[in-house]
Amino acid sequence: MIGLCTLILTAVVHAASVDTQRHRLARDGMLSAIRADYQDTANYIGQDRADPDVLLAMGKVPRHEFVPRGARRHAYANRPLPIGHGQTISQPYIVALMTDLLDVEAGDRILEVGTGSGYQAAVLAALVSQVYSIEIIEPLAEQARQRLQRLGYSNITVRAGDGYFGWRQHAPFDAIVVTAAASHVPPPLIEQLKPGGRMIIPVGTRFMVQELLMVVKDDAGSVTTRQILPVRFVPLTGGH
Ligand code: SAM
Repeated sequence: MIGLCTLILTAVVHAASVDTQRHRLARDGMLSAIRADYQDTANYIGQDRADPDVLLAMGKVPRHEFVPRGARRHAYANRPLPIGHGQTISQPYIVALMTDLLDVEAGDRILEVGTGSGYQAAVLAALVSQVYSIEIIEPLAEQARQRLQRLGYSNITVRAGDGYFGWRQHAPFDAIVVTAAASHVPPPLIEQLKPGGRMIIPVGTRFMVQELLMVVKDDAGSVTTRQILPVRFVPLTGGH
C-alpha cells in the first residue's frame, strides 16, 4: 500500500514539475550568463545590469519544462532552442532584456504575441497580474496552454490566432511584447496599447538586420520609437 501511495505521489509530482538541485544550479549558471550579456551589450541597451526582479522571476521558472525532452540538457544554455514546427524558445538573455524593457508593474495586464513554448509568458506571469498570449500555430498554442496549466500558472490566458491584430476583447494593455519579427509595427497593437504603455518588438525581415524596438505611447497618445539592439527572430507570419 505504501509502495502504491509513493508511486501515485511520484506520478503527481512529476505531472506538476520536477525541479531538482541540478536544475537550480543550471538556472544560476543561466543568470550569470545573462548578467555577462548585459555587461557586453551595455552600450546598446543603456544599462549594464538587469532588473533584479526580472532575474528573480527567471530564477523561478523551470525552463527545462518548456523545451522538448530531447533538448532538456541544453535548457539553461544561453541560446535559443528549437521547440518544433520550425519555431524556437528565445535565448534567456533576450527574454530577460525584453521583460526588463517592458518595465512592468505588479497590477499590469500584458499582451504577448508569439506564445511559442509559453516560457516568456511564464516569466511575465511572475511579475504582473495577467498575461494574454496569442500563438498562430495551433498545436503550439494548445501545448503551451496545457503546459502552463500543469505548472500552475493561473494568470496566463493563451489563444490560437494571428497576434498582428492583438486581442481587442482584453485591450487596452499596459505593455505588449512581440516575440517574432514583424516587417513593421502593427497598427492594431499601437491602438491596443494604453497611454503611458510600452511595446517591445523586433522589426525587420529574415534577410535583413532586425532591430529590437521600444515603442512608447505617451499620456497624450503620441508614439515614439527607439532602436535598442540588432537581433534575430523567427518571422511574424499570418495573413495581414
Ligand atoms: N515567446 C516564445 C517562448 O517563450 O517560447 C518564443 C516565441 S518564438 C521566437 C515566436 C513565436 O511567434 C512562434 O511560436 C511563432 O509561431 C509565433 N508567431 C509568428 N507569427 C505570429 C502571429 N502572427 N501571431 C501569433 N504568433 C505568431
